[in-house]
Amino acid sequence: MNLNTTSDIYSPVLDDTSTYIDTNNITFPIKCPCTNKDFFNKNTFNIHRRKTKKHKDWLAELNANKTNFYKDTILLNELVKQQQEMIISRDNIIQTQKLHISHLEKQISKNVPTYNLLDLD
Ligand SMILES: [Zn+2]
Repeated sequence: MNLNTTSDIYSPVLDDTSTYIDTNNITFPIKCPCTNKDFFNKNTFNIHRRKTKKHKDWLAELNANKTNFYKDTILLNELVKQQQEMIISRDNIIQTQKLHISHLEKQISKNVPTYNLLDLD
């Protein structure tokens, strides 16, 4: 049995005029970003998108900001690339420090005196 515990995020499609429109190509459950609410069947989702002002306003907002999404995507891709480079750099630093620590531990184990320091005057 396959239990789908996380909902896909609903995304409208672009029509011939590059306008975002609602789509029927949906797998339930689905989460609509306009309310962050999960929908578990076609009937309740159809009522939601046809009758709620919030969903209609959200779709209108998507269409009003289409060019900004393109700009946002470019900026986010650049940010992801920078963060990947930072992660690689940090990983390299950590590996170098691990080697240094290991080296120091070996030196310490060779040089530690075996007598009890509390017996010293
Ligand atoms: Zn919605």
